[in-house]
Order: sequence, then structure tokens, then C-alpha cells
Amino acid sequence: MSATIARTSDNPLLDFSGLPRFPEIEPGHVTPAIDALIADVRETIERVAGAADAPSWDNFVQPLSDALDRLDRAWGQVSHLNAVVNTPALRETYNANLPKITAFHTDIAHDKRLFSRYRDLAASPAFAAYGAQRKLVENTLSDFRLSGAELPDDKKARFKAIEEELARSSARFEDNVLDATNAYGLFVADEGSLAGVPDDVLTAAKLAAESDGKPGWKLTLHMPCYLPVTQYADNRGIRETLYRAYATRASEFGNPEWDNTALIERILELRREAAALLGYASYAEVSLVPKMAGTPAEVLGFLRELGAKAKPYAERDMAELEQYARTELGLTDLAAWDLAYVSEKLRQSRYSYSDQEVKQYFPEDIVLAGMFRVVQTIFGVAIRASTAPAWHATVRFFDVMDREGGLVGQFYLDLYARPAKRGGAWMDDAIKRRRIGERVQHPVAHLTCNFSAPVSGKPALFTHDEVTTLFHEFGHGLHLLLTRVDVPGVSGLEGVEWDAVELPSQFMENFCWEWDVVKHMSAHVESGEPLPRVLFDRMLAAKNFQSGMQTVRQLEFALFDMHLHHDFDPSSQSVLDLVESIRREISVVPRQFDDRGLTHAFSHIFAGGYAAGYYSYQWAEVLSADAYSLFEEQGVLSPVVGSRFRDEVLGRGGSRPALDSFIAFRGRAPQIDALLRHNGMLAS
Ligand SMILES: [Zn+2]
Repeated sequence: MSATIARTSDNPLLDFSGLPRFPEIEPGHVTPAIDALIADVRETIERVAGAADAPSWDNFVQPLSDALDRLDRAWGQVSHLNAVVNTPALRETYNANLPKITAFHTDIAHDKRLFSRYRDLAASPAFAAYGAQRKLVENTLSDFRLSGAELPDDKKARFKAIEEELARSSARFEDNVLDATNAYGLFVADEGSLAGVPDDVLTAAKLAAESDGKPGWKLTLHMPCYLPVTQYADNRGIRETLYRAYATRASEFGNPEWDNTALIERILELRREAAALLGYASYAEVSLVPKMAGTPAEVLGFLRELGAKAKPYAERDMAELEQYARTELGLTDLAAWDLAYVSEKLRQSRYSYSDQEVKQYFPEDIVLAGMFRVVQTIFGVAIRASTAPAWHATVRFFDVMDREGGLVGQFYLDLYARPAKRGGAWMDDAIKRRRIGERVQHPVAHLTCNFSAPVSGKPALFTHDEVTTLFHEFGHGLHLLLTRVDVPGVSGLEGVEWDAVELPSQFMENFCWEWDVVKHMSAHVESGEPLPRVLFDRMLAAKNFQSGMQTVRQLEFALFDMHLHHDFDPSSQSVLDLVESIRREISVVPRQFDDRGLTHAFSHIFAGGYAAGYYSYQWAEVLSADAYSLFEEQGVLSPVVGSRFRDEVLGRGGSRPALDSFIAFRGRAPQIDALLRHNGMLAS
């Protein structure tokens, strides 16, 4: 650490001796700390990249990653506070520092000297003897290559220009979708046309019309309006109008300014060119380099195997829906805009139960004790309430200990929604496990949710969905906390392939559907009775409602994405032809018009990071269900299977390929049967 940083130790963001000093952090601390830490990494780079001696782990990777870890920890504290106790002053300093951080990381990713130091290190005789360190160096070299580090200068310039145009085009794609969504409004004058729509949605629609200075109700394409209207509006014409508008957003059927048609062609063309420059046959091949799946053919084979199994169930789901529409609702020509509406009616008639009723059985402390019991039993750790300086009075803190009483890690639990806290649920690292000299730095996790806080002296009560969310995030937390890897960059979730990262989180969700777990994790807030078995069975049946249709819908997106980035040939086919052929193959729902939902508003692949990666949703589900099935076979709370899962999967982090870890745990490669069974799609 440089002298500048040591001298400014009164700045809590520059204190790395223990847990973050959250209550002391002021917006004024941010810029000086971030500037000092970036300067420190830059000094370190000058020192280690320009050194005359041959690079080794100790003289090159370790000092560089130590400096980067400090920046990461400090910036992590700022981002965390910005997300959970946002204030105008903090937001301002966060936004002022964010571009510096981003630009700095881009610089490092393109630093030629670092690339050649890493290459020399990989070629050195000592390298063969490295363990987990090797994986980090290999990952880093691969990242450098994928950002064009090995290209000759003229091609490098072209590659950079492509990346910049891609970034602009993707941003424009997303803006068009947003603008087209925001610009839409369907004004309804009489309340009778809105029969069936829930009251809170009507109230919001009335306010939306008022703020436009118009009478009546304004329906929009934003989820809080669009979803309930298509689900509950009895008026078929309203559903159709809204559905058509939604399914043609940012297409040639709307305002030409927001038409994404040309952008789609251009983005695909640029990606093909970038892949060719890097020496790959397709963009899908590039996308799969850092992922667990090996080749596009392997992914396509996987998707089609799942499709072959799911499609009969999807057809059955569709037939049931058609029959219900005909006999119960007198609807004989089920259209795309009826699906959500009829599905909701059918679901209610079969499985209706109230979230409010279920909530009474899941008070916070019973749920936490139940979840901790699962984790303690199968992973052989103890979780104990502890204390730490935090950012809000309701934040809880826990120690995770091993059998011998040694500290494994710690975590913050920030459960309740409140103003100035970002929505959603997530796990983040506060501190990553790594070795520093003789000492091991223990991992510390943030588990953040947005559940309802306790009211009037009653404990907080969770819906079953919220309980599942908690298990999911705790699964990510365990990945961080139970790692045994001390090497930076491959410990915990670091360096884990992108399509395998959801394995521990989705794995943990399974316990929420296990009666032996749920009956001990529920106690009615007044009577103390566990959740009734009949209610649990109804919830389980509802969970699998239309799972066939949902699966093929996801496969439609995933197959389109993978073909589009792999073997799609624009000289012989249009993008819409490809859509058509995939729908003929896999879809079971009726189509009355040329909708554009799979193309013009598919931001995941054209603007987000999911290009040739949409399959990963299904992929991770297969991994987690198949991993869980070993527990089902040998005992759901088996400590033997648990310690194997910890040893071979959670503990390994990114230190070896995820497939190797999976096989070491499961004794074979992943299979899709467990997922099909869990979703009610396997005859047993
Ligand atoms: Zn997750």
C-alpha cells in the first residue's frame, strides 16, 4: 500500500483492517478514497509491468490483485450504500466516480504490458506447478484475447471500432424499446370496459390519465399495468389492442424513429465481423469461450432434448386451456391475447390459495431458523447471531463457524423494504476470501431483500415466494462463504462460468418445496401450527401449472438466440424467417398476426449481456435440479452428500471448470430428468 493511502487512514474507506465502517462513511470520503486507490493500482501496474525480472505470482499477480482488491472493497462499500441508503449527496458522488472506475477497468483490460507479463508468466517453467493460480492466469489471458489483445495493430483498430459501434447500437436498441413503451397510452372512457381489472391498477390508470390532462383511464405497456390488464380484463377488445401494441414495440409497425429493424441487422453483422477477426466461426463460439457449455452444437442439442421432452406437456397444457376456454368461458377461438386471461381463470379454479393465508405461517424468525437448520445440518457449519457496524438499525449480522469453532465467514442480512433502498433481492460480496501474507481474509456477504417490515409488534411475515427468494440469495451467499480457495480471482463466485453461477442459488430453492423442511420451517403466527399439508400440496401443484408451456416458451427464445448467433445466414434467410421456423418447431400457442416480441424488443440479446447466452437460464436449472436429486436419492438433509457438495462444488469456486466440479460431485455429467420431474414433466 502506498504512503498516500496509509496517511489518509482517517478515511474509513481506506481502512482494510477489518469489517467496513459503514456508519462513519460520508459522501465526502468517496472521491479522495477512490482517487487514492486508483492511483495506487496505477503505481502498482507501473512497478510490476515495467520490472526487469521475469514475472512470477509473487512479484506480479499478487501485488496487482492486492491493489485491485482494495479498490474493489472500497468501491463495493460505496455502491452498497448507494443501493441501500441512497441520499442525493451520495448518489451525486457515486455518479461522479462511476465513469472513472469504468474507464480505469477498460484501460487495464487493454494494457499491452500486462498482457505480455501474463503471457510470459504462463510460459515460465514454474507455471506448471501452480494450482488454482493457473486457472486465474488462464482466465485473464483468455479475457485479454477476447478483447483483441493479440490482433495486429490495423485489425486491433477495427476491432475497437466494432466494439464502440456495438455499444452505441445496443444502447440505441434499448432506448428505442423504452421510448416505444413509454410513448404508448390507450385511453378508456367508460369504466365498464375495464371490468375485471384490479382496483389498484384502475387507480393508477386514472391518475395516469389525469396527469396527461385527460378524462377516463390510461392503460400503458408498463408491467404493473400491462400484466394485470391482459390477465384480468374481461373485455377482449381491450386485451387485443394492448397485446398487439406490446408485441410490436420498436418495430416497423410503429413510429419509424424507434424501429429496431435496421439495428438488429447491424448488430448481428458487427458481431459476425468481430468473431471472424478473433478467429472464430461464429459469435456464439466467442460467447461460449468463458462459459461452461462447450460448443453451440452442444447447447442446441441440449435445448432440443429438453424441447422433445417438454413439448407433449406443452401441447397438453394448451389443449386444457382451449377446453376450459370453450366450456367455461364460451371462447372457441383462443387467441394470443386470451392466453394470460384464460390461464389465470383456470389457475384460480384449480389451485386458488391466498398469499395472505400462507404468509401467516412464515414469520421471520421461524423461517431463518429453518433455513439455518438446513444449512447447518448438511454443510456442518454453525450460524450464530453477531454484531457489526451497519447502515440501518434493522440490519442483522451473523458469524458462520466450522465444527471446531473457527470463523468461516460472516454475513449481513438486510431484509426489509424502505424508502431510498433499491428494489429486488441480491447477494453481493463485502469481502472476498483470499490469502494476504500469512493471514486468510474471511469472506463477508451482503444478503439484501425487500420484504415487508414487521408492523405493530407482530413479527415480519413472508410469502412463500419471499421465502424462496431468501433461500436463493442465501445459496449465492454460501458460494461466497464456504469457498476454500484463497487465490484471488477464482475464490467464491469469482471466475465461475457465467452459465453455472446460478447453480448454488437455484439448488437452495429446492428446499422450499420439500415437505420435511417446510413443516419445520413454518408456524402460524397466532396458533403456532405448521403449514397444513393440504395447503402445501396445493401450492406444489400450482407451481407446476403450465410448466410445459412455460418451458417451450423459454426454449423458443433460447433456440432463436443460439441459431441467430451461430448458423444464421443473412444471404439465404431473413431474421423473421428464422423466427418462423423456430416457432413451427417448438411453439404451441396460436398466432394471429406478425408479432415482433422475439426480435424487436428482445433486449436481453441485443442490448443486455445474453447474446448466445439465453440458454443459460434452462442450463442452470438443469444443473441445480440434478445436483439436488442426489440429496433426494440419499437423504434430503444428508450431511454426507452435503459435505460432498461443499467439497466439490461450493468450496472450489472458479478454481476448476464447473463441469469438472459437477461431475466430481454427481459422479456423472448433468442430466435433464430431475428438472423434468421437479416440474411435473416426467412420468414417474
Ligand atoms: Zn441468482
